[in-house]
Amino acid sequence: MRAMWLQRAGEPLAEAEVEAPRLGPRDLLLRVHACGVCRTDLHILDGELDSPKLPLVLGHQIVGTVVEAGARAERFRAGDRVGVPWLGWTCGACSFCRAGRENLCDRARFTGYHVDGGYAEMVAADDRFCFLVPDGFPDLQAAPLLCAGLIGYRALRLAGDAERVGLYGFGAAAHVLAQVARYEGRRVFAFTRPGDEAGQRFARSLGAEWAGGAGEPPPERLEAALVFAPAGELVPEALRALEKGGVVVCAGIHMSDIPSFPYELLWQERVLRSVANLTRRDGEEFLALAPRVPVRTEVEVFPLAAANSALAALRAGRVRGAAVLTLDPTSEPTAAGGAPAEL
Ligand SMILES: [Zn+2]
Ligand SMILES: [Zn+2]
Repeated sequence: MRAMWLQRAGEPLAEAEVEAPRLGPRDLLLRVHACGVCRTDLHILDGELDSPKLPLVLGHQIVGTVVEAGARAERFRAGDRVGVPWLGWTCGACSFCRAGRENLCDRARFTGYHVDGGYAEMVAADDRFCFLVPDGFPDLQAAPLLCAGLIGYRALRLAGDAERVGLYGFGAAAHVLAQVARYEGRRVFAFTRPGDEAGQRFARSLGAEWAGGAGEPPPERLEAALVFAPAGELVPEALRALEKGGVVVCAGIHMSDIPSFPYELLWQERVLRSVANLTRRDGEEFLALAPRVPVRTEVEVFPLAAANSALAALRAGRVRGAAVLTLDPTSEPTAAGGAPAEL
């Protein structure tokens, strides 16, 4: 099968013919239709996460059709359209798994990190961790739901019942979350790179009542701030914008160092926390909610072979909404991508 192959951290992906994945007894073999491109893929590519399988096929927002199911994979049948998320396998036995916190499993394996992902024509995935993709979402529009949407949703849950919610970094996750937050009756304040007026207009078009550059004070204090951009300097900024008792949730898997800040920013029961991974329950809840909102994902489509361009566009902040790779030769790329030189 054709795949985009990461051989060593720091190098561009190489297009290669590789062996199709082997089907384990609990696995589904999927023909990939679309795979979302996530900030985490960049962190893996850059060597910022410590234990990727190498060589590796990246990609953990996969929409595909079941070609074959292993002998003990009973949840789906050939022809079903399923989604594969970041959480690829958990042990079911550690204290976290037993407490319903499988997102923190001691031995978790993640898609496109410990096991090959969806930047390829085929993928194998444990059927217990796959989701049925809701009808009404075409493949390309569904892909970003599987990480940007789903882990964003978990971050929003950790914001409790906060009404005034700030979103720092208005990319794939925030553009979904703004819609969910509005649906839940919350008020959305969006923070983009300073001077990114197009991004601020985009945020307002999705229901943000205010949009400005990171570092600008919002018109009212926030009860929760979700930080999606991997920039540690945003953490004190977000704390500064926070109401007493509010929470800052860092939603990325990696972030640059957080600068020191005066205790006063945390005082008055403000909370600073991260969100890690997802549970299958998060996925079931979010994929049931998304059609009710209904979430509309905005995607920039790249052919599989242009995965390096998609990653470069994401790195440069040039993606509006979410970047998605298509494996369907008949679907029209919206972004053929420039030279991936800056990767
Ligand atoms: Zn992701
Ligand atoms: Zn476990």
